[in-house]
Parts: sequence; C-alpha cells; structure tokens
Amino acid sequence: MANLSPLLKQATPVVVARGEGVYLYDQDDRRYLDFTAGIGVTSTGHCHPRVVAAAQEQVATLIHGQYTTVMHRPLLTLTERLGEVLPERLDSVFFSNSGSEAVEAALRLARHATARPNIVVFHGSFHGRTIGAASMTTSGTKFRAGFSPIMGGVAVSPFPTAYRYGWDEQTATEFALRELDYLLATVTAPAETAAFLVEPVLGEGGYVPANTAFMEGLRERADRHGILLVVDEVQTGWGRTGRFWGHDHFGVQPDILITAKGLASGFPLSAIAAPADLMAKAWPGSQGGTYGGNAVACAAAIATLDVIRDEGLVDNARVVGAALSAGLEKVAANTAGIGDVRGLGLMLGNEFITADGQPDPTTAQRAQQKAAELGLLLLTCGPFGNVVRMIPALVVTKEQVEDALAIWAAAVDFATSA
Ligand code: PMP
Repeated sequence: MANLSPLLKQATPVVVARGEGVYLYDQDDRRYLDFTAGIGVTSTGHCHPRVVAAAQEQVATLIHGQYTTVMHRPLLTLTERLGEVLPERLDSVFFSNSGSEAVEAALRLARHATARPNIVVFHGSFHGRTIGAASMTTSGTKFRAGFSPIMGGVAVSPFPTAYRYGWDEQTATEFALRELDYLLATVTAPAETAAFLVEPVLGEGGYVPANTAFMEGLRERADRHGILLVVDEVQTGWGRTGRFWGHDHFGVQPDILITAKGLASGFPLSAIAAPADLMAKAWPGSQGGTYGGNAVACAAAIATLDVIRDEGLVDNARVVGAALSAGLEKVAANTAGIGDVRGLGLMLGNEFITADGQPDPTTAQRAQQKAAELGLLLLTCGPFGNVVRMIPALVVTKEQVEDALAIWAAAVDFATSA
C-alpha cells in the first residue's frame, strides 16, 4: 500500500464523499458549508446538474481530440462563446489545463511579442508553482525557496496594499506608481520590459483589490512604453468579484488576459486571450501541451457560461457578496483581532492581527479550524497566512451566508478569546 505524500498538507481533516451546490458531505454524510469552492473553482456550485449533463454527454461522445492533429466541436464552440464575455479586442484564445500553464503561456507570448526579456510583477503576487510562474510569485518564500536558480528577468514593484503600509489608498497608490517609475528608470528600462503582470485582486497575497488609479497608471505607462499589460484573472474571473472580470471594476483593458479556475466549474481548463495580431507573434508548437482544451472540460465550460448567464450569477456574487461583507464587518467590529475586512464580490478576506498590529496567523488558523469543526470550510491566505478568505460558489444564497456568518462569529469568538 502506498501512502499519501507529505507534500499533501490539508487545511482540515475532512475527507469528502460528494458535493452539491454550496455543500460538501464527508464520508459519514456530515454536511459542510463550503466557502472555499475548491479554491474559487466550482463557481456554479458542486456538481451543477447542467454542468454534469454537459460533461456526461461529452464523455460519451468524445473525451479527447488533440488540437495539433484534429480540432473538435467543444473547443470551437467555447472559443466562439468566449466572445460573449471577453473584452472585444481580445479576440484570440489559446487553451491549457491550469492557471500556472496559462501564466507560462502569457509569459512566453509577452516575450515573443515584444522581443524584450523582463516582466514586472507586484508585491504579494501569486501566479503559480511552475518555475516560471513561481519566479513571478512574491507572496511567500515557500513558493520560491529551495529550487534555485529561479527564472531571471523578473522585477518586483509595490502593490497599493494600503492596509499593510498603514496608509490610505491614494497614498499607497501614488507610492506604488512612483516606485514603478523608479524601477523603470533604474532596474528594468522600458526597452527591456515586456509586460506588467498584475492581479486585479491579490489572491494568495491576501485578497487586496487593486484600484482604478493604480490600474489606469499601469495602462498609461504600458501604452507610453510599448509594454504589455497582462492581467491574471485566474482567481478573479468568471463573476467572482461581482463583475464578469476583476479588471471590469477599474475600466482598464488588458493586452493579455489569463483565466482558469471558475472557467469550467472544476474541470481542468485554462486559457489566455489576446488580440489576434499579438497572438500571431508566437508560433504553433511554441506553446501548449497534450491535454490543452480537453473536450470534456470545454463542454463543461460552455455549460458554465450558460449557468452563469441564466442564473444571473454575476449579479448574485455582487448582491450576496455585499451581504457577506457587511456581516463580516460586524463580526470584525466585535474584536480587535481582525484589523481589516476587504475584497470584491464573493472574494472576501479577514486579516487577523495581534494587539500591536502585526500579522497573526495563529489566531487566523484557530478561527479557520474552529469554523471547520462547526461545519464551515474556509482557507487562509496572505504572505503571512493571517487572512481567512471566503470564496463560496456564486450560487450561494443570502440564507446560506447567514448560516456561515453565525458559524464565523462563533469561530472568531473562540479563536480570539483563547
Ligand atoms: N494565478 C492566480 C491569480 C492564482 O490564484 C492561481 C492559483 N491559486 C494561479 C495563477 C495558479 O493556478 P493553478 O494552481 O491552477 O496552476
């Protein structure tokens, strides 16, 4: 008998047997409210009947048709349908299987298209665990340590994380853009800089939203210097933030968009989108892999799009997200242990701090563990692991949010009075 790898460290002891909507059931059929959604993946809920039906039908028709040999209908249809939700300019789509792979594809495309070597990323970034993506990840040493040499050509600039700096958003944004100019003047000249790679809301970095002035500042500098603006929407896409894309909040258009997670309700699928002339700067064979654009995953993604549209899930994320946010603020108002509640839509974080304002991962983890015991599954994030995040499926109702908030209040009370 083989054993589980020690690399598999679970945040909870739960072994799930099945999932339905916002709920997971363990082997003893105990029910949990799942506010992790497979790390923001099962956007339509666990096993949405329409996604299940589409996948089952596709499994029985064609499981795999490799795109370097033959094209298949689900990939073609999904490509067409993505035109309904992508920014109009980004009319060319390329598929892979995971967020990291799509990040790698965007990185290579940016270098190919500009013939420039360097990428600017932002403090608190998370872009994945392959060597290229990990080299562009700055939200924790654990993602980068021990496998050097990492990829070169990455420069890091501040993100407007107002709370951590103890500043207001405007001051943090002015600082971040000034530092970016300084970086472009002293570290990576524009003529050497292929792209700015940015998350609309820092994900693993602690659920910190960007803002309009910051994103406009990036767009303006990108235009001025011929640098590409690459937006990593792996976690923020598909309605998660209460708009279809995270960048929609800021009215700024990317040159390359990266998407995964919510795209196929749990099937492994990711994509990059870019203008066709930019995409044409790379060449067939330079990107991709055996399973990219798998037929079953594409069929599930088409059903996901239908469900999001027909059930008004983007609006639901905004409305129910506002109710969740208000409830979390109330819980935080009762304790000095939570210093900040923030996020957009159904992507919300609670930052735990010590009495002297330092990151407090111990209390965050205690609250998360207690919530799991009480039937609410949550995850932590942030460079210091002190942010408890809430990312339920977009089908979550106000009643389910009320149930979650009751458990959360009890878990926070337990954790902060220990
Ligand atoms: N980019 C972002 C913004 C992410 O949140 C993640 C995953 N948490 C990734 C990339 C990597 O995705 P994957 O784990 O599917 O490789």
